[in-house]
Amino acid sequence: MTSTGRVHIVGAGLAGLAAAVRLTAKGHDIALYEASQHAGGRCRSYLDAELGCRLDNGNHLLLAGNTSALAYVERIGALDTFERPAEAEIPFIDIVSSERWALRPNQGAMPWWLLSPARRVPGTRPRDYLEVLKLRRASAKATVTEVLDPGSPLFRRLWQPLAVAALNTAAAAASARLFGRILAETLGRGGAACRALLPREGLSESLIDPALELLRRGGADIRFGARLRGLVFTNGRLTDLSFEAGAVTLGPTDSVILAVPAGAAARLVPGLTVPDDHAPIINGHFRCAAPADAPAFAGIVGGTAEWVFRKREVVSVTVSAADRLVDLPGEVLREVLWRDVALAYGIPRDPLPPARIVKERRATFRATPAQLERRPASATRWNNLHLAGDYVDTDLPATIEGAIRSGFAAADRVLRRLGPAPAMTSSAAMPVRLTPETIEDRQRALP
Ligand SMILES: Cc1cc2nc3c(=O)[nH]c(=O)nc-3n(C[C@H](O)[C@H](O)[C@H](O)COP(=O)(O)OP(=O)(O)OC[C@H]3O[C@@H](n4cnc5c(N)ncnc54)[C@H](O)[C@@H]3O)c2cc1C
Repeated sequence: MTSTGRVHIVGAGLAGLAAAVRLTAKGHDIALYEASQHAGGRCRSYLDAELGCRLDNGNHLLLAGNTSALAYVERIGALDTFERPAEAEIPFIDIVSSERWALRPNQGAMPWWLLSPARRVPGTRPRDYLEVLKLRRASAKATVTEVLDPGSPLFRRLWQPLAVAALNTAAAAASARLFGRILAETLGRGGAACRALLPREGLSESLIDPALELLRRGGADIRFGARLRGLVFTNGRLTDLSFEAGAVTLGPTDSVILAVPAGAAARLVPGLTVPDDHAPIINGHFRCAAPADAPAFAGIVGGTAEWVFRKREVVSVTVSAADRLVDLPGEVLREVLWRDVALAYGIPRDPLPPARIVKERRATFRATPAQLERRPASATRWNNLHLAGDYVDTDLPATIEGAIRSGFAAADRVLRRLGPAPAMTSSAAMPVRLTPETIEDRQRALP
């Protein structure tokens, strides 16, 4: 143990891993506890024995404008595990009209791409896009459809698909401000920030396994099958972590970062208010090869499936805020979603390939104005207990970027409280310096 104490991180999802990676980089002594037998939480890959291939639990789209995620990926040395298209391009396929187009914002923040019909949504004019500026001034209670015209072609073909995917909430219920915030961090910063980062193999290979490897090299004590059952507070301090296998008593300078999902945190921390309404996401994974000219991913307009991803061994589709579908039987969803894939790719509907339908009933909290008010800060009333997780108030929706940013923020709180660790223990712990400027430079320079 170092003289700055041990940092105990509970939960090895992206929030917990990000906190651990940042603290290890600063030479701190880390213990990471995870209830299940694997890391990654809601963002991971696994072997589907029936389909005979590895699947991601859900299709995740990361953009270069996700600066915290990018810093994390660089820190864990995983940038090369991602496909990084040279240009920002978000393809769409309207399966009703058979139209295809791609949103192609230019690299810089000055949006001259709006002047080019080939770069914007068909049937829209440059000035239609100005409506989005109203999101910035939206009241905290406003929903996306109260601010943007839901009857416009631009809404149906762009704002709605983006809002539902990013917020996992129907546009009529989703916070306008939050949508504005993510657009400001991506589209608002130009094409360099909209370039997709697509894991070549899977989520675990790109975001989870390299982090575990880095942490192990840095000497972190990682324990799987360690479910935290209770927290013991004595004299205004967190003093013990109570696991199934026994208690861990904290040293006087030890800190705890609780990086478990919202519901688990609320059960553990007295008086904690958290978002309590969650929305489902459905993924359909089809064991087949996509046509050679299919884009790596595309938005589907006019169907049930919302996004289609061409992966190494499967074609995968995603439906967010899938309340209307989540109780339908798997066989029905398989047919409906495959029909959309066949229309999008222009391939026959028969035979229907072997498929896995994954319903995540509580995928993320619903990003409504009312739920956002329930997001807690990272700080708690105990100065050695900090919260991390996609539900913590980061001003971002429940996403990879939000989870990682919350983990970094909790780690920074610990660092401010403890100061630097006495000495770096291994070369694996050498920090990579990523200032906002270098992150932006990186986005532009991504090879
Ligand atoms: C199907 C699906 C699709 C998604 N698509 C996208 C997308 O396209 N883009 C995007 O950015 N985001 C997407 N997300 C959201 C993203 O995956 C999450 O926001 C993020 O992974 C949350 O990370 P986290 O660390 O906050 O929580 P989690 O991943 O839930 O991690 C928490 C960890 O804590 C552990 N734990 C729980 N209780 C205890 C306990 N008592 N003791 C010890 N450990 C415990 C859990 O096992 C888990 O490993 C998607 C999510 C899902 C489910």
